[in-house]
Amino acid sequence: MLEQAETILKTYFGYPSFRSGQRQTMEHIMEKKNTLAVMPTGGGKSLCYQIPGMAMDGTAIIISPLISLMKDQVDALEALGIPATYINSSLTGDEQNKRLKAIEAGEYQFVYAAPERFESAAFLSVMKRIPIAFAAFDEAHCISQWGHDFRPSYRSIVNSLEQIPDIPAIIALTATATEDVIADIQTLLNIHDDHVVKTGFERDNLSFHVVKGKNKQTYIRSFMNEHRHESGIIYTATRKQADALADQLERWGMAAAKYHAGLTEDERKTAQSAFIHDEKTVMVATNAFGMGIDKSNVRFIIHYAMPMTMEAYYQEAGRAGRDGEHSDCILLFSPQDVQLQKFLIEQSPMDDAAKQSDYRKLQAMMNYCHTQSCLTSYILDYFGDVSNREGCNRCSNCEHRQERVDITEEAQMILSCVKRMGERFGITMTAKVLKGSGDSRLRRFRLDTLSTYGLLSAYTEKQLGERIQFLVAEQFLATADGKYPTLQLNENSVDVLKGKQTVWMYTAPIPVSEDADYR
Ligand code: ADP
Repeated sequence: MLEQAETILKTYFGYPSFRSGQRQTMEHIMEKKNTLAVMPTGGGKSLCYQIPGMAMDGTAIIISPLISLMKDQVDALEALGIPATYINSSLTGDEQNKRLKAIEAGEYQFVYAAPERFESAAFLSVMKRIPIAFAAFDEAHCISQWGHDFRPSYRSIVNSLEQIPDIPAIIALTATATEDVIADIQTLLNIHDDHVVKTGFERDNLSFHVVKGKNKQTYIRSFMNEHRHESGIIYTATRKQADALADQLERWGMAAAKYHAGLTEDERKTAQSAFIHDEKTVMVATNAFGMGIDKSNVRFIIHYAMPMTMEAYYQEAGRAGRDGEHSDCILLFSPQDVQLQKFLIEQSPMDDAAKQSDYRKLQAMMNYCHTQSCLTSYILDYFGDVSNREGCNRCSNCEHRQERVDITEEAQMILSCVKRMGERFGITMTAKVLKGSGDSRLRRFRLDTLSTYGLLSAYTEKQLGERIQFLVAEQFLATADGKYPTLQLNENSVDVLKGKQTVWMYTAPIPVSEDADYR
């Protein structure tokens, strides 16, 4: 059967060989095992179910939360001569009935269905009567409450599927690779460890950059001037930011499309189409844009503000360079971004445990912005991929590696200050003590009597804050979870204090923004 899969790959899709993980995934599916495929964005997940769907008897049901994508995928299959259809709320009642009848008559090899279809008795009753090859969950992380895009309605499909007696296998596909999400999907869909296929997460045509301490607008203006004819996406944190930045680009004479949930469906469609067809080279958007957009020549993704999690970041950044050509993923960091994300966590109706989990993810995202280790390695580590340890030689940190200085002594001063403060305070207060600030709160806690008070007074509080953030990001210091994380020593801190470990830092020029704020 695998030979058949290979023939289909070559004759229908025109590709000479499988990509990493595709063969194994197809093998499990064709043996009718419940299967989970975890591959980065652009890794080729669609073929993993399309080829088995063509090779196997019965109709393949593809469940996708992305209505906009269904039509594209169906069109693409039909262009290859493969009978496929979709059924979702964008169709009239008549059209839905017509398609249901044709599905029942076995006319389609593929049926793409939106989640809400599984609440329809008519749809479920047809599903119960037809021979099914398998059911595939695209963007499967949406069923996990640990995922960054949990959709309760998506999760409830699991129960509906149980009402359909003869589904030979269920396939889940996602680009989210964190352990808790994977475990959750496995439990919900009854997937054995042996049938989880995880490919390496490295995208070696992507260069990651973190930019700190620069005026974001100035940066974008000069970047865009240098990349005028390249296609790219600028992600903003809010709709307001997207509106303002798109206007600004227009004023600078650059043609930008914009996309966010505050626009009408028509406006969004027009913007998306202008971008996909290269009529507008740049898209300014919130995270509402992009899931399922298959535009191969996106040369850069700029994050105008830091997202809340590494999962969200890597998924959005991963939309660059699907064609395998070199592309840049740039994150513009400012401390206010952290405040916004904390605010969003506080405002959310989640319980305390879920909030703590979000704060942990946010801390990992902040550490990405403050680490001076290889950014690619940091990402791969985060997703549990241990293949790269040397450094990628193309991220902004690797580029600066030669210019590092030994800051062990300074680190020892900071760490001993944290210790003397009883490990009960956060970054702001620690920076104030080291600076020797006259702040009244500091006197109230008698922190001005410590021997480390004013020990690094030659630095500004902002610079000290950056140094401490760096020590946290490099795991020379730990933080407690929560809104106001207190600093704590860990094993690495002890090694540094004992002089057993050297601390290297790229320090010049010190990237501190004017409006730094570590509260
Ligand atoms: P994902 O869903 O994982 O983000 P897609 O399924 O959209 O990725 O695939 C990304 C691109 O890679 C598509 O243009 C697809 O045609 C192409 N692709 C998939 N498999 C292969 C392969 N074996 N060889 C070459 N290109 C492939």
